[in-house]
Amino acid sequence: QILNELLDLKGNIRVFCRIRPITLGENFGRLRPVVALDSSNVHLKLADNKTKSYSFDKVFHPGSSQDEVFSEVEPVIKSVLDGYNACIFAYGQTGTGKTFTMEGTPDSPGIVPRATEALFKQAGDSNHAFIITFSMLEIYLGNLKDLLVPQPTKPTDPLPPCLSIQTDPNGGIEIENIVSIQVNDINQALKLYRLGCRSRSTATTNSNATSSRSHCMIRISITCFDAPERRRETNKIWLVDLGGSERVMKTKAWGRRLDEGKAINLSLSALGDVINALQRKKCHIPYRNSKLTQVLRDSLGEDSKTLMLVHVSPKEEDLCETICSLNFATRVK
Ligand code: ADP
Ligand code: MG
Repeated sequence: QILNELLDLKGNIRVFCRIRPITLGENFGRLRPVVALDSSNVHLKLADNKTKSYSFDKVFHPGSSQDEVFSEVEPVIKSVLDGYNACIFAYGQTGTGKTFTMEGTPDSPGIVPRATEALFKQAGDSNHAFIITFSMLEIYLGNLKDLLVPQPTKPTDPLPPCLSIQTDPNGGIEIENIVSIQVNDINQALKLYRLGCRSRSTATTNSNATSSRSHCMIRISITCFDAPERRRETNKIWLVDLGGSERVMKTKAWGRRLDEGKAINLSLSALGDVINALQRKKCHIPYRNSKLTQVLRDSLGEDSKTLMLVHVSPKEEDLCETICSLNFATRVK
């Protein structure tokens, strides 16, 4: 409760930074690591021994555990049961740990399994009856693909149609025909999650590249039934593993890969524009500029909680991308 009040006091948008540890094998190269000196500042060592500093609501060091990260994320999960919609984003260059943070590993589960578990636990502890539903989609080349719709088994089978978005005059949005499955416990939810992940990777032969060129979005909705008044209220949380933020146009990408990169870059900057406009309380919020922001329209705004986890690499060779990511983070702060 106190945490939630603090969260309210400080506004609705939090920005955290997480620095990936150096993995085995990387130690052999020349490293001028990104240094986080304290719990809310990142200091970058630039080439000429200059330092550039960035501050955040929280910084996670390479040694920070999934537990530590989740304990800072949990208030956002709690706010969903307090009547807010919420979005949690993992942003960053490919290979900086977005999927590690969101999905984690069997030994080190990330935000998706922990948040799901926490939602069931918190809803169960409340005095209300509730229904939890799970949906999962991917935005690839500007198209919305429902990851819970069975994928064709033969290459000659037709692809299921893309999802479309409808907005109503009140700013509500509806993703037409999105599959939304009621789940009764964490295991059912995680089963759907694994099913969704499989639909993702069957799309092309090079699944790894594709996963970094698309946004993966999970939606968990909770409907609470207030017994005496028979009032019902639905709130939702989006857990989003964003496409890699590296600037593909500056690399030697071509053909489909260039299109993919452009689509990701455009939608990430549209997301940055929306959050920036919300932070500055502008009257026009440019939701319409990308599918990503259209989908999130009613979960990204005044009455919603937003958490952006910006991921950076500790390696010197990634310094340019690290600066870009930290600049993005500063813009949405
Ligand atoms: P991304 O999704 O941003 O492309 P990944 O999550 O796939 O990056 O991370 C790249 C690799 O680094 C993976 O092997 C992952 O397990 C590892 N990794 C990333 N962050 C951490 C971390 N905080 N602790 C341990 N391993 C990590
Ligand atoms: Mg990933």
